[in-house]
Amino acid sequence: LQQPLRETDTVARLGGDDFAILLPGATDLATACRVAERIVDGLRHPFEIRGLVLEIGVSIGVALYPEHGQTGPELLQHADVAMYAAKRGPAGFVVYSAESDTNSIRQLTLTGQLRRAIEDDQLLLEFQPKIDARTCEVAGVEALIRWQHPELGAIPPDEFIGSAEHTGLIKPLTLWVINAALRQRRRWAEHGFDFGVAVNLSVKSLQDPELPEVVRSLLEAWQQAPECLTFEITESALMADPATALEVLERIAAIGCKLSLDDFGTGYSSLAYLQKLPIDELKIDRSFVIAMTRDDNAAVIVRAVVKLAKGLGLAVVAEGVESEDAFDRLRALGCDQAQGYWFGPAMSGDQLLAWVKATPWRAGGRTPADRIVQA
Ligand code: C2E
Ligand code: CA
Ligand code: CA
Repeated sequence: LQQPLRETDTVARLGGDDFAILLPGATDLATACRVAERIVDGLRHPFEIRGLVLEIGVSIGVALYPEHGQTGPELLQHADVAMYAAKRGPAGFVVYSAESDTNSIRQLTLTGQLRRAIEDDQLLLEFQPKIDARTCEVAGVEALIRWQHPELGAIPPDEFIGSAEHTGLIKPLTLWVINAALRQRRRWAEHGFDFGVAVNLSVKSLQDPELPEVVRSLLEAWQQAPECLTFEITESALMADPATALEVLERIAAIGCKLSLDDFGTGYSSLAYLQKLPIDELKIDRSFVIAMTRDDNAAVIVRAVVKLAKGLGLAVVAEGVESEDAFDRLRALGCDQAQGYWFGPAMSGDQLLAWVKATPWRAGGRTPADRIVQA
C-alpha cells in the first residue's frame, strides 16, 4: 500500500481488512485515481509472506475534498459508499458520486433499522437440511438468518450481513443466531430429534476474541454438547486477518465445536492453509455443484475437491444440489453429505420437524422436495 505513496501521505488501518489512505497533495481527481490504480495493480499479483503465496483482491473508494465532503467523517463515509460500488464493478476503484449514494440509500436505511430489528425480534432463523449421502437421512441442518421487515417484507441475508459487519452490529447478530440455533435444538430434542446445527460466521466474527467465550457460555446456558455446533467460515473471511482468525478458530475447536470451510473453491487462499486450520469439513461451493451436471470443468473441480478432502481426512459436503442427477454423481464420487433445493429449502424449525416426519428420505425413499407436502 505504501509503495505508490509519497512521504506526506498516510496509510491507516481502520480495522480488519479496512484501510484508509490520505493524500493531502492530491487536490485533483486525476492524481487520486492514478494512485488508486497503482495500488490496484500492485496488489493484483500474488505475493509471498512467511512462505505463503497470497492472492488478494482490493476495492477502493475515492472521495475528494472539498467536492465530496467537508469533514473527515463525511469524506470517510463517502469513500465507503464508493468502495461498495467498487466491490460490484470490475475496475477495482470507484470515485464517489451522488448516484452511487442513491444506490446505497436502501442499504443505509436497512443498516439504520437493523439494530431495532435485532431488539424487536424481526429476525428469524430457518434451517436447511443436510443429507447423509449414504443413508439419505438428515445429518444436520444449516441455520440461515432471515429478516422479516415490517414494511419491506423478507430481506435476504446478503443485503444486510455486510452492513452489519461494517457497523459492529454483526456481534449482537451472531450472538442472536447462535442463541436461536441452540434454543431450536432444544425444541427438536423434546421431539426426539438430535440434529447438529451449522452456523455461518462472517469475517468480523472471526476477528472477535470474545467469540469463543460467548459460544462456551451459550452452550452451557442451553446445556448442549459442543459437537452439536458447527461453524461455517469462508476462506476470504479467514484471509482478512489470518493470525487472529486462526487463534479464534483454535479456541472454538478446543471447546469441541466443529469447523467447516464454506464456499470452498471460490476463495483465494493458499492450500497450505488447509493443513494449519483446525477444520473438520470442506463445503464445495454451490456454483460448482449446480454446474457439474452440464459442465465438465465444474465436474472435474468437484471431483478434485472430494479427493482433496478425503486425502486430508476431512468430511466433504456439497451444497446447491438441485437435481437427483447431481446427487447421484456426488454419491458416486464419495461425497459425505449433500444440501440443496432438491432435498428441501431452508424452513422454520417446526416445518423442518414436520418435513422430517413426512419425508420418505428417512426410509431410503427418493422423492424430490417439491413433491413433499410442507407443514
Ligand atoms: P451460504 O452460507 O453459502 O448459504 C447457502 C445459501 O444457498 C443460502 O442462501 C441457501 O438458501 C442457498 N441455497 C440452498 N440450497 C440451494 C440450491 O440448491 N441452489 C441454490 N442456487 N441455492 C441454494 P441464503 O439463505 O440467501 O444465504 C446467503 C448467504 O448469507 C449465506 O451463504 C451466508 O453467507 C449468509 N448468511 C446466512 N445466514 C447467516 C448468518 O446467520 N450469519 C452470517 N454471518 N451469514 C449468514
Ligand atoms: Ca454456509
Ligand atoms: Ca456456502
